[in-house]
Amino acid sequence: MSSTTKEVHSVIKRILADERAYRTSLNYAVGYCRAGLTMSGHELKVQTLYILNNITHWRHADAKLVRKVLKEYKEEMKAVDHGDCPLCGEKVLDEFRDALSKREYEISGMCQSCQDDVFGRNESE
Ligand SMILES: [Zn+2]
Repeated sequence: MSSTTKEVHSVIKRILADERAYRTSLNYAVGYCRAGLTMSGHELKVQTLYILNNITHWRHADAKLVRKVLKEYKEEMKAVDHGDCPLCGEKVLDEFRDALSKREYEISGMCQSCQDDVFGRNESE
């Protein structure tokens, strides 16, 4: 396990230590954080995105540092797996069904096929 992964786990623990915010600003972030503690590598990178998206209203003395560490990890992993899907590891072809899928790719890096597995295919089409 890289030191960076340890660093990410340690900031996740800082978030989880703020139990007073569980029912307010942290909300869904709590679940994402708990799951993130068991992850590393590509999986953890995707998880940091969900955590970052869910702590935007979190106010805490450590919040700035926590966000910085999570963002840096995200950027670092982006360089490592550029073009590869974090779930299946295949090279991601620029073939997306719609703007929503394309946007999801920009956030998580997931290929269309894995997005279909995770989110389910849009039946209205
Ligand atoms: Zn994939």
